[in-house]
Amino acid sequence: MERARQAFQNKGLKLTPLRQSVFREIAASHKAIGAYEVLDRLAIRGERLAPISVYRAIEALVAAGIVHRFESRNAFFACHAGHEMRQLVLACEACGRVAEVDADKVFAAIDKSAGSAGFSTKGAVVEVWGLCANCAGEGREPAHGRP
Ligand SMILES: [Zn+2]
Ligand SMILES: [Zn+2]
Repeated sequence: MERARQAFQNKGLKLTPLRQSVFREIAASHKAIGAYEVLDRLAIRGERLAPISVYRAIEALVAAGIVHRFESRNAFFACHAGHEMRQLVLACEACGRVAEVDADKVFAAIDKSAGSAGFSTKGAVVEVWGLCANCAGEGREPAHGRP
């Protein structure tokens, strides 16, 4: 939460109590979760909110760089790295866990390809599906389709 507060301060934004609650729910999940799941979890805690308030809070968290949008599933996960704009996201098909890794070489290759097309890159999100170390280690079959 301290890092979250810092991230908001750096951008001249305010980490309101609502944003804190929303961030806490997203950070508590190892999976990427959707806005409605956040809404449900808050409701269980007795915080009944309008979907639009939750959407706005999530948008602010994404803008502050402490939450990322998992594009291919329209879900969100907390960032533990403290970076912006460039991420290689690894999503486990079996348990749903989402992790980020440094992938400078991947992005250098993207820059190069884009550059040769006369395109200057500003950001990139690369989402990779597979099995996390935990699930691969158990030799489990990946779940069919996306979780
Ligand atoms: Zn991140
Ligand atoms: Zn897994």
